[in-house]
Amino acid sequence: MSKNKQKRILTGDRPTGKLHLGHYVGSLQNRVKLQHEYDTFLIIADVQALTTNFEKPEKLSENVRQVARDYLAVGIDPEETTILVQSLVPEIAELTVFYSMIVTVNQLQRNPTIKSESAQYGYDEMTYGFLGYPVSQAADITFCKADLVPVGEDQLPHIEQTRRIVRKFNNLYDKVFPEPEALVGDFPRLVGLDGKSKMSKSLDNAIYLNDSEEEVKNKVQDAVTDPARIRIDDPGHPEVCTVFEYHKAFNKDGVKEIEGNCRQGKIGCVACKRKLTGAINNLLAPIREKRVEYINNPSLVDEVLIDGTRKAREVARETLNEVREAMKLNYFPE
Ligand code: ATP
Ligand code: MG
Repeated sequence: MSKNKQKRILTGDRPTGKLHLGHYVGSLQNRVKLQHEYDTFLIIADVQALTTNFEKPEKLSENVRQVARDYLAVGIDPEETTILVQSLVPEIAELTVFYSMIVTVNQLQRNPTIKSESAQYGYDEMTYGFLGYPVSQAADITFCKADLVPVGEDQLPHIEQTRRIVRKFNNLYDKVFPEPEALVGDFPRLVGLDGKSKMSKSLDNAIYLNDSEEEVKNKVQDAVTDPARIRIDDPGHPEVCTVFEYHKAFNKDGVKEIEGNCRQGKIGCVACKRKLTGAINNLLAPIREKRVEYINNPSLVDEVLIDGTRKAREVARETLNEVREAMKLNYFPE
């Protein structure tokens, strides 16, 4: 750890598809900013992706690279941030097993995010892995003894679960881990284009960071607005409008004017959407440009992943040595 970076961040994403604007305002922005102040670890949680995608493991290889390209394109700097692939750090799986002894099934079943995701996926029954993914997430966060976890709102119950595990571990065995804190971004739950659920890769209601200008335009055009507004001069209700939510997030300079004009029926939805399309495309232009470098140079992305994973494993090995010592499992110390 470099001298000026006393504290650690761990955060990450499931490689279930491309990253979207929800990730950007929910946590990517924070990660990019904080990587200079914190020793940052960014995990591509491929094992966790299997909890809902175990039938299609063949997609992971491309998705892992896709997420890595998205990270690099938005400004994650591999000199500042360690990017790692979860399944290639087996110490995380080991830690998950130890933690599973001190977590109750009832705690996991009460987790509101587990409940809502299981309803969203239409599960009649949950696999052991799905129910237990917050435990595996606790292992992700603690293998590097993270202090801070930048996440979206849906993750808060999981951070709370991690804190509970850490407290129990530290009390039972030895004080090995700090209690991590969650850091929620400016928009903890960006709504999806459907206007109902959170923007999510799996629900395909998202504007992706690698959407083309045309795709952004078409998606914004189809986005749900105020249903009570029929004629252009009807007064609008920005508080129920998805497009207005996006103006708040991506058109900070113009949002006040849009709100006033909408309420007075002075701007129609078509013009309002046109302004939003412009703002989003301005944000995405440099990201698109940077991504091209990595698409043209795929070995660069692989190198970042291999290097980061190797570094993370060294850290994980050290932590696991401490864990085994604390649990008196170090039968044959050197
Ligand atoms: P999936 O649908 O496959 O679960 P996802 O879109 O929910 O994908 P995750 O990889 O599960 O993305 O989440 C990664 C991080 O991004 C988490 O910290 C999560 O809270 C945050 N995040 C995801 N979607 C949003 C959103 N719409 N608004 C704010 N933060 C979000
Ligand atoms: Mg999710």
